Amino acid sequence: DYVIQADGLTKVYGAQRALDGVTLHVPPGTIGLLGPNGAGKSTFIKCLLNLETPTSGRALVLGRDIRASNRESRERVGYSPEQDSHIPGVVGCEYVTYCGQLSGLSFKQARQRAHEILDLVGMGQERYRKIDTYSTGMKQRAKLAQALVHDPEILFLDEPTNGLDPAGREYFLRLIGSLHKQLGTSVVISSHLLNDIERICDRVIIIARGRVLEHDSMENLKNRH
Ligand code: ADP
Ligand code: ADP
Repeated sequence: DYVIQADGLTKVYGAQRALDGVTLHVPPGTIGLLGPNGAGKSTFIKCLLNLETPTSGRALVLGRDIRASNRESRERVGYSPEQDSHIPGVVGCEYVTYCGQLSGLSFKQARQRAHEILDLVGMGQERYRKIDTYSTGMKQRAKLAQALVHDPEILFLDEPTNGLDPAGREYFLRLIGSLHKQLGTSVVISSHLLNDIERICDRVIIIARGRVLEHDSMENLKNRH
């Protein structure tokens, strides 16, 4: 069973082919999406989440056609966008609870899960602090908590280590690398840093100029190079 199946997925912006015929069959696990800035990583993720409409091609996420994506299929997916959400005045646990409600949980379920997930990501101490006072590392962890609160089957993290110092990066990568084992969630993590992906992923997709250059298990990739 594949978590992502893409067939000729293409996204054109004006004269720019952000995605150029991406065809992939990706099994569950911790999946690295590696490529330089502008490679098409965000566009790929946004197309799979139905946040962008592909120009052509098709894709299935968790076996469902992304064009037919409904509330039920969105509830099986988590997303931590590259950009921070600007919501002044809101404290961490309110934010994560609210995101849980948006993803189909009742208020009570969402609040309980928000506290559990904030503990899991090491944010128990900061749960009553306002998000706009968080450090970059705390914001990244709050975004991860928000993406995990409803127990998705697959999680998309767009450049989640951006802006972290080496210690913060280390902590955060270890946390992300443990999610598939701990929660059974497949994780797609994009990065422009080989080192991030190499450390925690069991599978790598290398993308450049909108095309897939490599897709293999980390083990095979290391043996071949
Ligand atoms: P990455 O996430 O790998 O940095 P992106 O998917 O953000 O790459 O971008 C791929 C290419 O598509 C880049 O050249 C980018 O400038 C372009 N692009 C992305 N989004 C848009 C948009 N909304 N309008 C026009 N061009 C875009
Ligand atoms: P990324 O690392 O994903 O490329 P960017 O900072 O390039 O992030 O893009 C931020 C936002 O701007 C994204 O939502 C992207 O779709 C949009 N964007 C990127 N490039 C362009 C572009 N050339 N024209 C218009 N929008 C763009």
